[in-house]
Amino acid sequence: MQHPDSILSLLKKSEDFLKKKEIPSARLDAEILLADLLNLQRVKLYVNFERLLTETEKNAYRERIVDRSKNKPTAYITGQKAFYNSVFFVNESVLIPRPETEELVEKIILDFKENEKEQTVLDLCTGSGCIGISLKLARKDWNVILSDVSEEALATARKNAEKILPEENESIQFLESDLFASIPSELRFDLIATNPPYIPLTDKETMMKDVIDYEPHLALFLENPKEFLTRLIDKARSRLNEGGRFYMETLPSLAPVLVAEAIANGWKEGKVEKDLSGKDRFVVLTR
Ligand code: GLN
Repeated sequence: MQHPDSILSLLKKSEDFLKKKEIPSARLDAEILLADLLNLQRVKLYVNFERLLTETEKNAYRERIVDRSKNKPTAYITGQKAFYNSVFFVNESVLIPRPETEELVEKIILDFKENEKEQTVLDLCTGSGCIGISLKLARKDWNVILSDVSEEALATARKNAEKILPEENESIQFLESDLFASIPSELRFDLIATNPPYIPLTDKETMMKDVIDYEPHLALFLENPKEFLTRLIDKARSRLNEGGRFYMETLPSLAPVLVAEAIANGWKEGKVEKDLSGKDRFVVLTR
């Protein structure tokens, strides 16, 4: 019989509680929240399964499990999320980085592999900074600018740059800007990467409470995504150097039409790329 305060008993109890509250990944979340609290790797929980939690640890864990039972995302409870080759700070002023966005970063890094020229790069709607900081980490000689309309988001991106790129963070620029509005007009980019808001407001009802109740709606929803994204693409073109590239994560139902329109509007090349689940997730354009 396990002691009721042991890691194993508390995990089981938390898992059961979260299941009762219909949290889909109950066991995994119970493990992540405990491992993070105890500063252990998740696998290490099982090596230490008989370890007893102190009163303080138990209370802190209970609080975390209660938060999760109210659909608060695990990443906001631990304050971090692994993305590409780093772990990013997150909070409710930034979107929790998604695996699709890791695919976007990977694509860019592969596409620019052979390109030795130093690139000037803009990560538009940077949020946590996950795209731009991951690119800078992979290509230290790139000149990276992160922009966001939200001051709180930009503060989080700054913290992430300091943590992930302590040596290079001073060479990263941060700009508070509503899309291109406050980006100095003389700045020209070789690459613009963006994961802008793209979900139609009307899809709100179909989404998980985790997202709706906690993630920033500003980073997710638009009244009219088509109109917004068309405008964004158009403005991006005027800020790119000749031959410059534009990479955007977007709504699969819009990606093909956005590419077709971009070509009609003078972009030299354009293609839709699929994500790992086979959806038309990315728009890739060349000026
Ligand atoms: N660039 C961030 C991300 O990809 C934030 C995107 C956003 O706020 N729409 O997660």
